Amino acid sequence: MAQFYVDGYRPGDPFVSEPLDAPGSRSGVDIRSPGPEGLPGTADVLIVGAGPAGLVLAAQLANFPDVHTVVVDRRDGPLEVGQADGVACRTVEMFEAFGLAGRLVEEGYLVNEVSFWRPDPERPGEIARTGRIPDVEDGLSEMPHVIVNQARMLAYLRDHMARSPRRAEPFYGLQVDDVVVDTTGSSDHPVSVTMGHRGGTSTIRARYVVGCDGARSGTRAAIGRELRGDASNQSWGVMDVLVDTDFPDIRLKSAITSAEGSILVIPREGGYLVRLYIELDNVRDREMLGDRSITPEKLAAVANRILRPYTLEVRDVGWWSVYEVGQRLCDRFDDVPEPEVATRRPRVFIAGDACHTHSAKAGQGMNVSMADTWNLGWKLGAVLRGTARPELLHTYSEERQRVAQELIDFDREFAAMFSAHPDGADPDPEKFQRYFRDQGRFTAGVAVRYGPSMITAADPAQHLAAGFGVGTRFHSAPVVRLADARPLHLGHVARADGAWRLYLFADRDGPREGSALRALCGHLATALPTVTPAGADPDAVVDVRAVLQAHHHDVSTADLPAVLRPRKGRFGLVDHEKVFCPDPAADDVFDLRGVDRDAGAVVVVRPDQYVAHVLGLHEHDALDAFLAGILVEVP
Ligand code: FAD
Repeated sequence: MAQFYVDGYRPGDPFVSEPLDAPGSRSGVDIRSPGPEGLPGTADVLIVGAGPAGLVLAAQLANFPDVHTVVVDRRDGPLEVGQADGVACRTVEMFEAFGLAGRLVEEGYLVNEVSFWRPDPERPGEIARTGRIPDVEDGLSEMPHVIVNQARMLAYLRDHMARSPRRAEPFYGLQVDDVVVDTTGSSDHPVSVTMGHRGGTSTIRARYVVGCDGARSGTRAAIGRELRGDASNQSWGVMDVLVDTDFPDIRLKSAITSAEGSILVIPREGGYLVRLYIELDNVRDREMLGDRSITPEKLAAVANRILRPYTLEVRDVGWWSVYEVGQRLCDRFDDVPEPEVATRRPRVFIAGDACHTHSAKAGQGMNVSMADTWNLGWKLGAVLRGTARPELLHTYSEERQRVAQELIDFDREFAAMFSAHPDGADPDPEKFQRYFRDQGRFTAGVAVRYGPSMITAADPAQHLAAGFGVGTRFHSAPVVRLADARPLHLGHVARADGAWRLYLFADRDGPREGSALRALCGHLATALPTVTPAGADPDAVVDVRAVLQAHHHDVSTADLPAVLRPRKGRFGLVDHEKVFCPDPAADDVFDLRGVDRDAGAVVVVRPDQYVAHVLGLHEHDALDAFLAGILVEVP
């Protein structure tokens, strides 16, 4: 739910921001590099790699126009086809915060059901369907599971960057060769990054560097970290193809295991294209694996063996590859050794495949990589702006390393279950299907729960809002916006703008005089300006929203406290879009998320939409103390 025109009406596409007319770094000391045109000599953040991890970070930082971000990639230009294609519900939720979910959902294939095929006990050598289930459990997310090519995901993100005030775009054709950190504390831009290009070599000095440079990351090596685990336990042939087939479930995601091997059928966007993941067997397919003579024709032959009695004829190959990946992980995702965490601030981070790799079966790689950098992006932006404490940067490695470990454990189990009992001796052919259903939260990307830290409360009043689990992502629910009666999803008001959000769920008294909601709003009216920089909108650092229990016809916007009608922009206009009521045409948000109607609740939500705390409406001091542990008071 983007807002625009607050500083004046202008014609043209409102989703294209006004350009920033102050190029160069925040410091203003922008020594031009002698390298490729436009490449600066300094940056606040240098991102190595314009894959999913790098571009989500760049898109997030594009929403911090005062932070000078540079993205470099050794490719000659953007990825055009191939690589990952599964976009988990949680990732679509994230794209919504960038205003990109609509296009993604319109273009993509939506995975509604999954079918399962195993060896047919009646007809040896053939497969039979054992079941067909919903892909995503009801109510898990308001967003679908989408399939779209990774190249298109990257295009959306570049488009977002191009529409940002800095009109940012990645620099291609730059191969980072060295990353050196000055740990003496004497430099404002302590990380020197040397890169080669057609014209020679250039160096950029950055305040922070983020290695989003994939599984063979040079940034990882430069900070002395290693990927540990199974280097490669399985090879998969992957093909994006147009086929002629009598296999009945070709337009359904299908997990097929036969005596001849396993295939994952992933229907793709547009109605005709399909991706086939074909598991290659180290024994049966050893010849083509050994001499690397795999071709799409050979993969199609393996597919036909597995699919028997069905046949498949490939008419066109859009992209194909052999994907060998193990489940591997780094012990930390930044350059600070464990014993120095209390005394040193991280300067170099690694994200995505650079610090964890996953099999293709559970579709985690691209999704987890993008989630890493959304976690990191707002933290970097806030620290660089000076609105958050620098210690915040330690939480990136703490949080994401643990999540990656959990997902790798899940992925390993999932991969083993997928291909179990190919000989047809399966005593329980529906076991994988049940497992798939039970673990749906993982594959949808909503199983993440961050542990207690400076940004995740250890002692929340969870009973006041049981459905907003602290440490989990804010689970959206339908509401109606009070001012214009528009039904919408509460979670969709949260843009990727770096702001913290306080959702004030009113008790039965609502906003009337003497109510707990009004008292809290009065308190926030004096507390929040202390963390909001001069000249910034009142909701730039902490955005206050309220959800009332009353029908939207029964409350007047004129009766709302000032914090819920903040004045913004150069004309001091009132933002009328801060207050919501239950949607009469849907389940009531209070019931849906277990919010205590007698007590109400304050749900504190991080800029990346994870619930940080739940408190009572009267707990003013506890709320102040929690925010003071993160945010910096403005001078
Ligand atoms: P990447 O997407 O690998 O991006 C890293 C970027 O860094 C690249 O653009 C690279 O050019 C750049 N880079 C690397 N080194 C340097 C350097 N020194 N200097 C400058 N730039 C550098 N996942 C699936 O789920 N299904 C699949 O079928 C599948 N197929 C894949 C096929 C291939 C060939 C590859 C490489 C990956 C595949 N993946 C697949 C994995 C999935 O694409 C990744 O999990 C996901 O892209 C991770 O995103 P990332 O941004 O961390 O890394």
